[in-house]
Amino acid sequence: MSGRCNGAFGARIIAAGCRVDRARAQLLSSGAEAALRPDSISEVCRMARSITIIGAGIVGIATASYLRRDGHDVTVVDMRPPGEYCSFGNAGILSPGSCVPIAMPGILKKVPGYLADPLGPLSVRWSYFTRALPWLLRFIASTELARVERTADALIGLLSQTFDAYLPLAGPAGCSDLIRRTGYVVIYESENAYRNDALAWKLRRDRGVICEELDAAGIERLVPALGKTHPRGVYLPEQGFVANPERFTKTLAQQFERDGGRILQREVLDIELAADGLQALVTDAGRMPVETLVLCAGAHSREFSSKLGDPVPLEAERGYHVTFSDPGLELPMPVCSAQHKFFVTPMEMGTRIAGQSEFAGVDAEPNYARADVLAQHMQRLFPQVRAVDSTRWMGRRPSMPDSKPVIGRATKFPNAYYAFGHGHVGLCSGAPTGRIIADLIAGRAPNIDITPFRVDRF
Ligand SMILES: Cc1cc2nc3c(=O)[nH]c(=O)nc-3n(C[C@H](O)[C@H](O)[C@H](O)COP(=O)(O)OP(=O)(O)OC[C@H]3O[C@@H](n4cnc5c(N)ncnc54)[C@H](O)[C@@H]3O)c2cc1C
Repeated sequence: MSGRCNGAFGARIIAAGCRVDRARAQLLSSGAEAALRPDSISEVCRMARSITIIGAGIVGIATASYLRRDGHDVTVVDMRPPGEYCSFGNAGILSPGSCVPIAMPGILKKVPGYLADPLGPLSVRWSYFTRALPWLLRFIASTELARVERTADALIGLLSQTFDAYLPLAGPAGCSDLIRRTGYVVIYESENAYRNDALAWKLRRDRGVICEELDAAGIERLVPALGKTHPRGVYLPEQGFVANPERFTKTLAQQFERDGGRILQREVLDIELAADGLQALVTDAGRMPVETLVLCAGAHSREFSSKLGDPVPLEAERGYHVTFSDPGLELPMPVCSAQHKFFVTPMEMGTRIAGQSEFAGVDAEPNYARADVLAQHMQRLFPQVRAVDSTRWMGRRPSMPDSKPVIGRATKFPNAYYAFGHGHVGLCSGAPTGRIIADLIAGRAPNIDITPFRVDRF
């Protein structure tokens, strides 16, 4: 059936000769038909579009890949090469069970302790405090229990598709080996701390996430390098990680280009609008006419969504990592410290500890003292670690106060779509988001309710 459609489509391509059809012809003649979803080919024959995406992070590249699989003519614009901004240095966790928002009941009581602790997970640059205040107030409003339950429902719908949505992209790109389905362990330094997290575990279990309780011996059995130092832990067997987030994004991007997609290295300075809709992107290399636009600019999306008439409370929630290239440490799976809010992940380029939430504005210089805090945690957790060769990094999570990304159509421009604000779970939700955007543009119903992610929810 798909063969018949391809043949008929091939004839139409020659007759029509338009830009979109040429791109589709290139895809078909390159032998990349397998990358297309057979069920969508006939739809694509009718509705292929010219689509421009701002942002070549994991969200932009996954979205571009899904749109290209639908046969659209897709161009990604970014001033950096793919995967070199926030998607470069995350902890790599792929966690379909990450349905617990950051804004949880009781978190406010913990904030003074976090801020006072030099090794704490949270810092606010006081010169930035008043500018962060509106976001913080919305964050506080999001801690109400009924809202937390609704957020968890929305997130589990999106995130439960993590592996399922990445495999069709990673397989053809040749990077499915980077996806490791090992599960991970969350550890607690005291029984009390574990009990204080009861609501988070209930939220996960109520939504079907398998969480196996561990005692000190159970933790040591799964991760011998931890010994019996922690009295409580939880093993989440259905979760996993990407062993090199930068290479993963770049490899998906290379496949997108092999399939006929384009990536242009340009900075977008503005969006040109007219009464009848989108006109063009103004870039540092000139004007680019735009037909359909998808905004995936991570922590920089707010200025563009505002231009499109949809202002959003989006903050750069800055995080850090330290990667130890030769740590002399055997970790069979990632380890998460529930109290100090970091992950230690065994990556292909070494062992990475990543975490911290710093509010200092998107453009402020990194404060690598926050990365040094992580290095100290690493030494405390694994005193045997060899720290001789390590690198530090700062990244900007695109964070919404209610921990939910913005996914969907712009309110004022029917040809503009949003896919940003994925906060702590942008790697997990990149491919599910891309598939949803492709569904929306194709006129297919997404397989989850996306109203919780609408741009005008605040
Ligand atoms: C320390 C840390 C640990 C993390 N750990 C995890 C984890 O384990 N699992 C997980 O799921 N998530 C994790 N995250 C979050 C995750 O990394 C992000 O949510 C994700 O990378 C966001 O992807 P993105 O594509 O939206 O943004 P980005 O990767 O930031 O990409 C946005 C792109 O837009 C481009 N851009 C911006 N403005 C313009 C412009 N004007 N013109 C052209 N291009 C522009 C940028 O150059 C960039 O390439 C972590 C984040 C941090 C900081």
